[in-house]
Amino acid sequence: MPLYVYEATDPEKSCPKCKGGFEIPQKLSEEKLVKCPYCHNPIFRVIQAPGLGHSKTDLHYRAKRAGFHTLKKVEKGEYEKLY
Ligand SMILES: [Zn+2]
Repeated sequence: MPLYVYEATDPEKSCPKCKGGFEIPQKLSEEKLVKCPYCHNPIFRVIQAPGLGHSKTDLHYRAKRAGFHTLKKVEKGEYEKLY
């Protein structure tokens, strides 16, 4: 079950549980919570970024590709210098 992070919409009215945010396991099919289960004040789901790791990998991949292209250019440049 994925863990979701919830945080109080209004920390001043919230309980210590949701004030700093709390994690709750929920099924994907479950509705997201709008109220804190402890103090019943409004909460919102904190969007965690699972895409962060993905974009990092993508960036690395692109850098690798860019590096490959640069290397090719240098090789070509050196070849041309020999002439
Ligand atoms: Zn609360």
